[in-house]
Amino acid sequence: MPKKFEEDRSRSIFFVHSFCNTTPKAAHIFVDEFDLEVELERKELVELLERAMTLLPEETRTVLIKRDVEDSPLSQVAAQLGTTTSAVAMRLQRGKLALKRRLTTTLQQELALYALQASTSDVWEETPLWCSLCGQHRLRGKRNPGEGKLLLKCPVCDVWSVNHLPALQGVKGYKPLYTRLAAWCNDYYQTALNNGRVPCTKCGRMLPVNFCFVEEIPPWAWQKEWVPSWYRETQDRLVSITCPACHSACNTPLDSLALTLPEGRSFLQGYPRVRTLPSQHVEAQGREAIITRFESITANATFTVVFDADTYRVLGIFREGVA
Ligand SMILES: [Zn+2]
Ligand SMILES: [Zn+2]
Repeated sequence: MPKKFEEDRSRSIFFVHSFCNTTPKAAHIFVDEFDLEVELERKELVELLERAMTLLPEETRTVLIKRDVEDSPLSQVAAQLGTTTSAVAMRLQRGKLALKRRLTTTLQQELALYALQASTSDVWEETPLWCSLCGQHRLRGKRNPGEGKLLLKCPVCDVWSVNHLPALQGVKGYKPLYTRLAAWCNDYYQTALNNGRVPCTKCGRMLPVNFCFVEEIPPWAWQKEWVPSWYRETQDRLVSITCPACHSACNTPLDSLALTLPEGRSFLQGYPRVRTLPSQHVEAQGREAIITRFESITANATFTVVFDADTYRVLGIFREGVA
């Protein structure tokens, strides 16, 4: 590292540390003064200031330190630098403008990127979400907000959800990711079921909607190790939308369709810990229907959706128990 840079760096680190340590909330005062719209942790703020300071000319930095950190009178700073008070005042004003520019532009974007990377994980993490199949375990997750990737699995029920969607890009936390995913699923699959076709999520080609068992789905549309065992065991067909052109695939079971309905999402908000009961085939309104039902683990409450067995259109929604 060149000596000059090292000196600059240590001086600026001194500035930031004394700035943030001598006066509590000093860094935030600085940010307030500049009216910056930042949502940063103190550590990030210190790093941001530190880097912004290294980019300023040395004289500007000296003036800022002497005035804003050491609280030296203008006349004293002017005497030390061998210049006039008005020259120091002008340098101070320009210095603050320059610092503000640095803080509001490139460095802030870089920090936003750091924050995204900090919420990226390639190892399974514990999430606050409960498995809605068994209601006994919290889901483990992997995520990459930059790519819109979200994987969720229950340690007992096998892999639960694999998603790679533009709609998830930039969302960091597991709860907001799930909320976004559920809303997206409802829009996408309900559009698909209503129209019988829907655009591919990746290449935009119009694709037909299929109802099929897991073994009927083309092999290229599954990442084998991610096929949950319960998909194989389910007695109901999945909704499957597969693109032969770009090999993108969206497959979902009936109970996910139920839980991502607006009523299902609201039930999960009230009762985050539910389990899925076995589906039942009945006759309703003269047609074959499938009943999917969920019950709260912690309260006496159930959520039931009746689907048409052929079209998977919703025939009825029932919510029982305390609200
Ligand atoms: Zn589970
Ligand atoms: Zn496609």
